[in-house]
Amino acid sequence: MSADHREQQPSQQGSRIDPHVGRYALRAKGMVASEVRALFAVASRPEIVSLAGGMPNVAALPLEQLGDLVKDVVSEEGATALQYGSAQGDPVLREQICDYMTLEGVHASPEDVIVTVGSQQALDLLTRVFVDPGDVVLTEAPTYVTAINTFAAFQADIRHVGLDEQGVIPEELEEALVRAELDGKPAKFFYTIPNFQNPAGITMTAERRAQVMEACERHDVLVIEDNPYGLLRYDGEAEPTLYSQGNGNVIYLGSLSKTLSPGLRIGWALAPSAVRAKLVLAAESAMLSHSTFNQLVVRRYLNTFPWKEQIKAFNSMYSERRDAMLGSLAAMMPDGCTWTKPEGGFFVWATLPEGIDAKAMLPRAVNERVAYVPGTGFYADGRGRDSMRLSFCYPTPEQIREGVRRLVAAIEGEIDL
Ligand code: PMP
Repeated sequence: MSADHREQQPSQQGSRIDPHVGRYALRAKGMVASEVRALFAVASRPEIVSLAGGMPNVAALPLEQLGDLVKDVVSEEGATALQYGSAQGDPVLREQICDYMTLEGVHASPEDVIVTVGSQQALDLLTRVFVDPGDVVLTEAPTYVTAINTFAAFQADIRHVGLDEQGVIPEELEEALVRAELDGKPAKFFYTIPNFQNPAGITMTAERRAQVMEACERHDVLVIEDNPYGLLRYDGEAEPTLYSQGNGNVIYLGSLSKTLSPGLRIGWALAPSAVRAKLVLAAESAMLSHSTFNQLVVRRYLNTFPWKEQIKAFNSMYSERRDAMLGSLAAMMPDGCTWTKPEGGFFVWATLPEGIDAKAMLPRAVNERVAYVPGTGFYADGRGRDSMRLSFCYPTPEQIREGVRRLVAAIEGEIDL
């Protein structure tokens, strides 16, 4: 089980003896610092080009205008903004979220939406509501590191389903669904990131989407479709969402973290009404009410700002960075390296020549003044040693080119060993 495996990994808390160790609940055993988080301290040193973190470039927002907007919220709506709100989220914001989702091809009623503290909280609430210790949850391999951490924190039995360049491999999904049934623990859900997957950068083809839906419906398994990057498309055409092909068996997660700001912590879940009601109750016990203030700021932003233009501006900035990343990888990477070619989002997944361990190589890379996330962090079972996630969202195109040059120096150093 993933929690056990993860405990064998070096822990950030490991250097000091914890006097409370005998007191923790069993579920706290699965709570260990992720490799990504541990890397942030190194990656934020000024001399390092960080291809590690997935931070959106919020400095590109019109900050002065946003400052005025925040002031207006306080002066015109302060009495509401500074008060408690509902755990389901502001009703006007939920309507606006439905308008936003139409751009992603999702048509929904505000009643079925719950506003969450980023889509991360939606993942936490869903796991809280559906997963008992030992329950099987299926995820892509590799997958979003904090989803793994959340599932592990609830002591899930995390089982991976392989990806290729077209997305989830249907035969592997079928096998995992059948195996879970044979084990007497039918999967509680299949968690997938169909667009510009984190960390692999892969987008699932229309055919694979239909196959995933067919298999999950046949096995009566819920699908959690996590789509924070869907509107950050730099080329190609959007594929239909799984939600739009479902019959009430898809829970759709969205977020404004990548298209506006992660600091505002506005995400959401769109769920069948019975599930949505459970999520609201879980949210009440987790936080009583969402931040009314942040919701009103976002409500005003969506009402008064040319936010679609802002997304276009982000897309042209990120697509230039993506091109810088793919161009430098093509020009400089040594023979035997492969990498994905994302049509959007923030991430490229690179695989190293046979025998090179991305995690073991990290100190050499830091010495060369570049950081990345080793692939092992994106699996619950220790796989991924030959791989790494490279992010192109935060550094400038120039920094990306320099970062890849340094990365190549580190890889060549390993090859020469
Ligand atoms: N899902 C995926 C796939 C992500 O990459 C992220 C952010 N890195 C999240 C969910 C969480 O985003 P937030 O909580 O900021 O909405």
